[in-house]
Amino acid sequence: MAIIPVPQLSDNYAYLIVDDASRECGVVDCSEAGKVLDEVRRRELNLIAVLPTHWHFDHVGGNEELARAVPGIRVYGARNENGRIPAQTNEVDDGATVRVGALSGRVIGIPAHTNGHIAYYFPQLEAVFTGDTMFIAGCGRVFEGKAETMVASLAKLAALPDATRVYCGHEYTIKNLEFALTLEPDNQPLRAKYAWAKKVRAEGKFTIPSTIADEKQINPFLRTASPELRASLKKLDGAISDDPIAIFAKTRALKDKF
Ligand SMILES: [Zn+2]
Repeated sequence: MAIIPVPQLSDNYAYLIVDDASRECGVVDCSEAGKVLDEVRRRELNLIAVLPTHWHFDHVGGNEELARAVPGIRVYGARNENGRIPAQTNEVDDGATVRVGALSGRVIGIPAHTNGHIAYYFPQLEAVFTGDTMFIAGCGRVFEGKAETMVASLAKLAALPDATRVYCGHEYTIKNLEFALTLEPDNQPLRAKYAWAKKVRAEGKFTIPSTIADEKQINPFLRTASPELRASLKKLDGAISDDPIAIFAKTRALKDKF
């Protein structure tokens, strides 16, 4: 069993999910089919499924080409994306099961970035693929929902076991950490993660995955209860209430302009 990141475009990640016994694999979020197919061939795998997290072009742009290259390939898509997933063959809802060889993944509905945004959680791999909903130390923009929609979606992900590894859709980690530090400059795990991420990126390596346990310590969008974060926000906006949704919304608005 393995998870292989395949960089796409300027800062996107596709991921191959491999079942070693059968050599079958699935791909999460493919925008450039050629790079994914090259990796599949190089590793002598059999690509059987496409697992898109949401309809945005940088997550599904390669679907049609994959469908042409691999006859019979399964292309999952959330019902709530209303047919916007190219080449979709299998419609799924929250709670559905997807299969890659002997691996099974659970679909978790996490709307807000898009109405039909989903995550794929593979207990056997202790891994979750979060697309543009949860990034390392960040979250996606709220395009098709409200602040409370995103708060509820992030809470579903945060409720997964602490050891779950988080594989997100973009390499936004450094910028996210720099923003998080403006609100929690004294958060020691956050400072340590920033130092680590700078070193890793300087070496040309990826910062994915993190873990759910990590995210609870460093991700400002999961930390609406943090006294330091709240105090930082109150300095910027004395009228802000202690309501977690208001704290989230203010944090998201600040990040939109960061
Ligand atoms: Zn997106």
